[in-house]
Amino acid sequence: MQKYDLIIIGAGSAGCMASITASEHSSKVLMLDCKEFKEIGKKVCGDAIGAHHFKTAELKNPPSDVARGRIDAVLVYSPSGRNSYKIEGEGFALNRYEFGRWLLNQALDKGVELRPDTKVISPIIEKEKVVGVKAVDTKKRGIQSFLGRTVIDASGWTGAIRRTLPEMHGLVKEPSWEDFAVCYREVRELKVEIEKPNSAKIYLDADIAPQGYWWFFPQGDKLVNIGIGVKGGLGNDPKRLFKDRIANLPVLKDSKVIDKGGGAVPTRRPLHSLVAFGTIFAGDSGFTANPIHGGGIGQSMISGRIAGRVAIESLNEDDPNKILWRVNKEYVDAYGMKAAGLEIFKIFLQELDNEDLEFGMRNKLITESDLDRLSYGSGHLSISEKAKRIIRGIRRLSVLKHLAETARYMKKVRKLYENYPEEEDYEIWSISVDNLFSEFKKIYI
Ligand SMILES: Cc1cc2nc3c(=O)[nH]c(=O)nc-3n(C[C@H](O)[C@H](O)[C@H](O)COP(=O)(O)OP(=O)(O)OC[C@H]3O[C@@H](n4cnc5c(N)ncnc54)[C@H](O)[C@@H]3O)c2cc1C
Repeated sequence: MQKYDLIIIGAGSAGCMASITASEHSSKVLMLDCKEFKEIGKKVCGDAIGAHHFKTAELKNPPSDVARGRIDAVLVYSPSGRNSYKIEGEGFALNRYEFGRWLLNQALDKGVELRPDTKVISPIIEKEKVVGVKAVDTKKRGIQSFLGRTVIDASGWTGAIRRTLPEMHGLVKEPSWEDFAVCYREVRELKVEIEKPNSAKIYLDADIAPQGYWWFFPQGDKLVNIGIGVKGGLGNDPKRLFKDRIANLPVLKDSKVIDKGGGAVPTRRPLHSLVAFGTIFAGDSGFTANPIHGGGIGQSMISGRIAGRVAIESLNEDDPNKILWRVNKEYVDAYGMKAAGLEIFKIFLQELDNEDLEFGMRNKLITESDLDRLSYGSGHLSISEKAKRIIRGIRRLSVLKHLAETARYMKKVRKLYENYPEEEDYEIWSISVDNLFSEFKKIYI
C-alpha cells in the first residue's frame, strides 16, 4: 500500500484548491472523488461569485470561457418590490462545470494523483489519529485502503468522514437541517433580453421563500440562473415553491430549461475547529459558506488553500498536529470570525415577516453600506448609525430592539473569535461559543 503525504477527499472547489497548493510542494498528493472523471466539476449552484474571493484565494480571475457573465451589482428587493438596495461590487456569473474543470485541470497540471470513481466510506484511525481512509471503487466494487500523513475532508456538506470520527467538542457530526438552506434552481435560456444583465437580483419574500430568498442571476443577455433557497428542517420543499411561485413569471415564458436540480448548503458558523484527529475540514464539509446568503465557492477555495498549505508545512515537523492547528487561526482571521457574527445576523433575519422586511427596507434600518459590509463578511453595525435608525424606526420597536440586541451579540461573538485559543484551551472556548449562541436564540427566537 502506497503512503501519501496528503489525501484529499473530494475534487470540488475546496479539494482542488488544496491540491493545487499542496502539489506545488509534494509529489505524493492523492485526491479521491466518488464521481466518474467527466462528472467532476458538476455542482448545483447559483454560479455567482464576488471577484474579491479570487484575490484572497491567490488565484487569477476565471477566463472568459469559465465566466459566462460579469456582475457589477447585487440588487436586493423587498417583498412588495417597491424598496430595494443596491450593493455595488465586481463579480462573475460562472459556467459552473467549466469552472470546476478549470480548477481540476490546474490541480492535475501541478501533479496531483486523481482517483475518480472512489467513494470514501470511513477513516482509518490509529491512536486517535486519522492515518488513512477506506474507499469503495464504485465501478469495480472492491474496498481499498489509502494511507496518508494528513487527510483533508473536502467532500462537501455530507462530510465523508466527519460523521464517523470520535467525539470532540464542537465537531458537529450530524448537523441539524435547520442549519442548512435547501435549494432548487434552474438555468434557463430566455426568449427575451434580460433587463440589467450585469445585476444579480435577490428577492426577499417570506411567503415565497420562507426564511430564505429567491434569486435571478443573469449569465449574459438571455441566460439566467434562477432559484430559491429556504431554511431546512421545516418541511418546505424548494422545488414545489419554485414550480408554484416562480416558474410562471412572465419573464420565463417559453424559456428553455438548460439545467435543473436541487441541493443543500450549510448556513451556520464553521466548525469550531477545522482540525480534528489529524484531519482538516475544508469547504462545505467544515461549514464555511456565508450563513446569510449561502455563497460558499469563495470560502471553499480560501479554506482549501489554507488547508493544503498548512498540511504541507506540517510534514517535516516533530509535532505535526501542533502545526495543523494553524489552520484554525488562519481561517478564523480570513473568514471564520466574520461568519460566526453573520450567523447571529441570520438568526435575526429569519425571524422577520414580510411586514418587518418591508418596514426595515423602506426606513433603511439596515443601510446599503451595512449590507455591503455584511455581504463581504464584516459583522459591524456602527453605534451612531444604529442610534439614527432607532429614531427613524420608532414605530416598530420590537424589530429595533432585536436589531440592537443582534448588533450587541455580533460584537460578543467577534470578541470570542478574536481570542481563538490554542489547542489545550479549545474545549472551554468551544463551550463558550455554544453558550453564547444558545443565549441569543433563547432571548430572540
Ligand atoms: C442551490 C445552491 C446554490 C448555490 N449558489 C451559490 C452561489 O451562487 N455562489 C456561491 O459562492 N456559492 C453558492 N452555493 C454554495 C457553493 O456551491 C458551495 O459552498 C461550494 O461549492 C462548496 O464547495 P466544496 O468543494 O466544499 O464542496 P462540493 O462542491 O460539494 O464538492 C465536494 C466533492 O466531494 C465529492 N465527494 C462527496 N462525498 C464523497 C465521498 N464520500 N468520497 C469521495 N468524494 C466525495 C463530490 O463528488 C464533490 O466533487 C450554492 C449551493 C447550492 C446548493
